[in-house]
Amino acid sequence: MLGQMMEMPLTIGSLIEHAERYHPKTEIISVETSGERTTSNWKEVGQHARMLASALGKLGIANGDRCATIAWNNRRHLESYFGISGGGMVCHTINPRLAPEQLAFVANDAQDKVLFFEQSFLPVIEKIHTLLETVQYFVVMGPRDDAAAQSIPGLLFYDDLLETGEADAPWPDVDERAASSLCYTSGTTGDPKGVLYSHRSTLLHTLVGNQPDGIALSAQDTVLPVVPMFHVNAWGVPYIAAANGCKLVLPGPNLDGESILALIDETETTMALGVPTIWMNLLTALEASESTLPSLKRTVVGGAPLPPSMIPKFAAYGVELLHAWGMTETSPVATINQFLQRHSALSDSEKTDLRTNQGRPLFGVDLRLLDENKQLLPHDGKTQGDLQVRGHWVVKRYFGKDSDALTDDGWFDTGDVSTIDEDGYMVIRDRSKDIIKSGGEWISTVELENIAIAHPHIVNAAAVAARHELWDERPIVVAVKAPNTSPVEADILAFYKGKIQSWQIPDAVIFVDTLPIGATGKVQKVELRKQFGEHLIEKGKNNA
Ligand code: AMP
Repeated sequence: MLGQMMEMPLTIGSLIEHAERYHPKTEIISVETSGERTTSNWKEVGQHARMLASALGKLGIANGDRCATIAWNNRRHLESYFGISGGGMVCHTINPRLAPEQLAFVANDAQDKVLFFEQSFLPVIEKIHTLLETVQYFVVMGPRDDAAAQSIPGLLFYDDLLETGEADAPWPDVDERAASSLCYTSGTTGDPKGVLYSHRSTLLHTLVGNQPDGIALSAQDTVLPVVPMFHVNAWGVPYIAAANGCKLVLPGPNLDGESILALIDETETTMALGVPTIWMNLLTALEASESTLPSLKRTVVGGAPLPPSMIPKFAAYGVELLHAWGMTETSPVATINQFLQRHSALSDSEKTDLRTNQGRPLFGVDLRLLDENKQLLPHDGKTQGDLQVRGHWVVKRYFGKDSDALTDDGWFDTGDVSTIDEDGYMVIRDRSKDIIKSGGEWISTVELENIAIAHPHIVNAAAVAARHELWDERPIVVAVKAPNTSPVEADILAFYKGKIQSWQIPDAVIFVDTLPIGATGKVQKVELRKQFGEHLIEKGKNNA
């Protein structure tokens, strides 16, 4: 016998409809690429989204067609998210910092029909538009600009396009299992692969990801996704904000510490989300300023390991850091670090220790560990193995591929190496590609980095494997000095003593002005290995 309850499809149109109807006046603050700050609200975003959906329909863009965006976090991008997906099309967010040929690769692979882009990218698009085989309409995300209009035949302008749509057009009926958005992995090895989210997977991620033990945003929050809208849908924040009527602050292109600090203080942001490098830069700006960060209560930190030394530094400003783990293939949030009831009895330093791990799985996500022979490993908090995941918002098959990306028994292999304890708290020890194998023993680069970053004269560090004649690989650390300090290699190496076993201590520390950081804010270790992978061999030759 079936249940007798209403069945309403879990669609992205229903999210924006809710925000528009029940949170119409809640503000959306947007930093435009020009630097101008504009204010709209959920009602206007909802209306514009419906206008956009109907305008795209009039252009002949059909259900399931991919419409790409190359854009920063701003109001028009938000409207496009809801307009494209709500209208039954697929919102393909492209990383603006891709090299032009990669950009053409992903647009062709996705068979994008429409390409929305910021006017600042016009010179690039002008150069490559003939390579984009399937794009029928190029749309500048701004008002009409007569000079720009000459650059690409038939170029459209977002504000004009909106005017051709109907503000009262109802959202079409969409199957909740239909594709809603598409995001490519960063493709550090091989071509990027597309992950095609559905309305259902997005809505389930929205609902579960925002539980009290998840991201826990409410209508009382002002939320700032510093994480880009092209990086796994800004970790789902636009959808969570719509479902919960949060005030949203969209930061535009300038994500340096000073800009983010000013934005948080001036908009009274209560919660912000981003990768660790964002918070490192914010701390540097904060320490050089008069601000006490009065409004900010919490940040979600993910995308790369949270350096433990950051936790007390933010606590001094009354900011709680919530460490989360996920990947493009997991929509992304899969685990988040929230305490259990018994943890309230812990001391501050014990709480800080607990905060450093990547947290427990949300309901709907399941984790397991395997050894190299594909045998299950215990969840004892000590045994480390290959992390596999399954769940309602985990990829099954990459876009355009013929076979599933899963193990024979239906799990997705993350490429991360982890431990899990009996409560489900998971620690990412490394990426399997990054972990260092020295004389047959594994060394976690994350652990080496955490120690370096805890040194008061280091602001950022990355550990990578360097080739070694005797041990195959040995760790070296590439570090950025704190302003106005002058640590030397021996200081940093001495700092490791007693914190890890002596054979794990790096063989060298190399100081650099900046680390290579990719568009999603992660250190590009592939670049560092290219640059410094032969460092020890060369040093050995020079010493010989
Ligand atoms: P992406 O698909 O670009 O978001 O990258 C996903 C990968 O980032 C994961 O497989 C992890 O290796 C890494 N990652 C994400 N969050 C964390 C975290 N909190 N700690 C350590 N690594 C992380």
